Amino acid sequence: MAVMLNLCLRFANQIYDFDASNKASSMRTLLWLKRLMPEVRWTMWQNRFCSDSSIQRLESNSSIRKHLISKITATGPISVAEYMREALTNPVAGYYVKNDMLGAGGDFITSPEISQIFGELLGVWCVSEWMAAGKSNMFQLVELGPGRGSLASDILRVFSQLKTVLGETDISVHLVEVSPKLSQFQAECLTGDNTQPSDGDQPVYRSGTTRTGLPIYWYRRIEDIPRGFSVFLAHEFFDAIPIHKFQRTEKGWREVMVDIDPESPDKLRFVVSHSPTLASSILIQKDENRQHVEVCPEGGVIVQKLANRIAEDGGAALIVDYGHDGTKTDTFRGFKGHQLHNVLDAPGMADLTADVDFSYLRKMTGTEVTCLGPITQRSFLKNMGIDSRLQVLLRNCPDPSTRAQLVHSYDMLINPDKMGHRFQFFSVLNRGRLAQYRGMQKNTAPLPVAGFAELDIQ
Ligand code: SAH
Repeated sequence: MAVMLNLCLRFANQIYDFDASNKASSMRTLLWLKRLMPEVRWTMWQNRFCSDSSIQRLESNSSIRKHLISKITATGPISVAEYMREALTNPVAGYYVKNDMLGAGGDFITSPEISQIFGELLGVWCVSEWMAAGKSNMFQLVELGPGRGSLASDILRVFSQLKTVLGETDISVHLVEVSPKLSQFQAECLTGDNTQPSDGDQPVYRSGTTRTGLPIYWYRRIEDIPRGFSVFLAHEFFDAIPIHKFQRTEKGWREVMVDIDPESPDKLRFVVSHSPTLASSILIQKDENRQHVEVCPEGGVIVQKLANRIAEDGGAALIVDYGHDGTKTDTFRGFKGHQLHNVLDAPGMADLTADVDFSYLRKMTGTEVTCLGPITQRSFLKNMGIDSRLQVLLRNCPDPSTRAQLVHSYDMLINPDKMGHRFQFFSVLNRGRLAQYRGMQKNTAPLPVAGFAELDIQ
C-alpha cells in the first residue's frame, strides 16, 4: 500500500513539474481568481432569497414558468422533483440545456474551474485505482455532468504524463451530458472540436478524438456507456438531480408540492399535500426522525447503476459534492449570478440544487460494492498530497502574481470556511478492492485507497 501511495506522490510531482509551464492552466486560475472573490457560491448561504429586478424581468419571459402554470392548472400541484427536472433539463428551455452557467460570468464556479491542481489530483486517483484493481487492459474514464470539460482535461493531461505507467492500455473517455450546449464546450476543450455529431437519437450523440489521441464519446444516459472496467467521476452532478421534499405533519409524512399562488396567478408557491402521495408512501425510511426530508430517488437509481457495473465489470466511482450524511433538512436552493435566488422565481433561468444525502447513496449501492467516505475535500486533497504539489508548482513559478494566485486557489479548495469542508468525497469500489485489507488481523494499517488515507511520504 505504501508503495502505491508513494507512486501516486511521485506521479503527481512529475505532473507538477510539467504543469508549472502550462500557461493555459495558469491563465485560467488567474482569470478566475481575479474576478471571483468575494461573491462565490459558498458564502451566500445566509441570505435565503434575493430580490433583483433583472431576475423579475427574466421571470416574466420564462417559458418554463408558463408551461408549468398551464400544467398545474390542468392537473394540479406538481412534485418538487418534477419542478426541478423541468427547470433544469427541459429539452427546450431547461437551465442546463440552454446556458453556460459556469465560471465568473455565470451563476457558480466549481473546484475544477478554480485550479488545475484539483483535476490533476483526481487524475492521479484514477490511475492509482486502475493500478490497484490489477491494471485492466481496458480503462474507460467516465464523467457524469462534465460542465466545461476542465476536470476531464486536467485528468487527461495526467494520463499523458503517466503514459509509461498506463502502457498499451486501451483507454477511452465517456461523457454523460444532457446539455447540447455544454457538450460543445466540452468538445472544444477536450478535442479542439475534433468531433462528429451523430444522426438522430443515437445513444452516442457526439464522438471524436481527444487532444491526447484517445477516443471520446458523449451520451445522454449512463446505461448507454459500453460495459467494461470504468472509473466514474461525478463532480457537482448529483446535487443537480431532482429531489422530492417531505414534511412531517400531525397526520404523518406529506409531500411538499409546487402550486400556483392564488394571490398572484403568475407566481408559484410551495404547498403541503393534503393526502399521502406515492412518493411520500415509499421514499421515507421507517426510522426517520427529522421533521423535513429531501430524497433524491433518481440519484439513488444512478448510483445503483454505477454500483452494479463496478461489481460486475470492476472499477470505481468518485462522487464529489456538497452534502451530508442523512442529517440535513431543507437544502433546496437556487443560484443566479453567484447570488442566492428564490427557487420558484424564473424556472430555467437559475441553477437549482440540493445537498447530496450520502447516507442515501450508500444505502442504494447495495451489498456488492464497498463505499468509502464521505470525507471532506480538505482531507481528501491533503491525503493526495496537495501541499507538496503546491510547493513544487511554486518552486517552478517565478512570477509573483501567479504565485499569489496559486496560493489563493489552493486556499479556496481546502480552507474549511470555503470549499474545504463544504465539499465531500465519497467512493464506490469493487468489493475485492479491500478484501486483503479486511482480512488483516488488526486493521491498524491505513486504508489502501489514495485520498481516503494519508499519503505515506518517505
Ligand atoms: N462537473 C462540472 C459541472 C457541474 S454542473 C464541474 O464541476 O465544473 C452540472 C453538470 O451536470 C452540467 O454539465 C449539466 O449539464 C450536467 N447535468 C445536469 N443534469 C444532468 C442529467 N440529468 N444528465 C446528464 N447531465 C446532467
